[in-house]
Amino acid sequence: MRDSCRLILDKDGFRSAEASDGKIGIQRTEQLRPDLVLVDLKMPGISGLEVLQKIKAIDANIIPIVITGYATVESAVEAMKRGAYDFLPKPFSPEELRMIIKRGLEHRRLMEETQSLRREKKLMEDNFITLVSHQLRSPVAAVMQYFEVILSGLIKDDSQKNHMLHKAKIRLEGLLELINDWLDIARMNSGQIVSNKKPFPVVPLLSRLLDFYKPQAAKNGVSIIMGPTKGKDIVCGDAESLEQVFANLITNAIKYNRPGGRISISVEEEESGLTIRVSDTGIGIPPEHLPHIFDQFYRIPQSGDKKIRGSGLGLSIAKKIIEAHDGLMTVTSMPDEGSTFCVHLPKGNPAAKN
Ligand code: ADP
Repeated sequence: MRDSCRLILDKDGFRSAEASDGKIGIQRTEQLRPDLVLVDLKMPGISGLEVLQKIKAIDANIIPIVITGYATVESAVEAMKRGAYDFLPKPFSPEELRMIIKRGLEHRRLMEETQSLRREKKLMEDNFITLVSHQLRSPVAAVMQYFEVILSGLIKDDSQKNHMLHKAKIRLEGLLELINDWLDIARMNSGQIVSNKKPFPVVPLLSRLLDFYKPQAAKNGVSIIMGPTKGKDIVCGDAESLEQVFANLITNAIKYNRPGGRISISVEEEESGLTIRVSDTGIGIPPEHLPHIFDQFYRIPQSGDKKIRGSGLGLSIAKKIIEAHDGLMTVTSMPDEGSTFCVHLPKGNPAAKN
């Protein structure tokens, strides 16, 4: 039986080893750590059922398949209970052996894939917690420091005190923004965005945002205009989430701009849907950073004294929202020339267009 199994396995290109009883089998399993083991239930010395248990203890990923000439329902059930993946009654054909091994190895591959995905997810969660904790701690620590200095009574000058309180307020505003972003992520992970999809015109929403952000842009010396609108502007989506996406793109276009800079927003109807572009003539994005700017917490290192604040979460949230609308978000950019963020949304419900 061993010889014929080995012949078939060798022919199929597997590496195999054999053992004449359970004890040797366990030793070999320990040394070789095979992907799959074929175990006869009736063997001299230790029984096949015991061998099964020991194999599981050595490596839970090994696929054990039981071979027996006494294939009763009871022995099959017992073998399965002790961790056998499948059952091969004697006599069997080479084809039956091949089939069962193929199935077993496929199961192992899937098991390993699931484990690796689980590990990856855990790693991401751990990283996320570390990053968030760090981001939450630094503004709180900064505000504490300002308060300690003020409360110590060392500063007598009121305007200096006010300056510190103002700085503490800015750090707290940043913290609030981060918490809001974080809540958005939680909301999105529970899949709440796509539930409120309705067809609506996007140009009025953009115009409203433009009016709202104009004063902030002007304060930074940046002008902001509504560019051309080509075709109908109906999208099918959740207006509140989409507003958040465009608000984020516009604030970024203001924040990462320079005095005298321009921002323009255009809408174009295409066959496959609607493309909304937010272009700026700002500082631009170096090519090596472009593939990462949609990652959570990714921020491009800034040089110079005046640091632009942010959580590094805005674009990752925006991208998730667009993807939840079956849309696409892309960016093109040139350092020192500016950036264009493109949002492509599939067409709205045609019935609602009229
Ligand atoms: P935040 O602005 O809070 O840092 P975002 O996720 O919105 O986070 O953006 C990630 C990073 O991408 C920013 O830190 C910035 O470096 C870069 N970025 C985003 N938008 C622009 C833009 N319009 N021009 C230049 N850089 C940008």
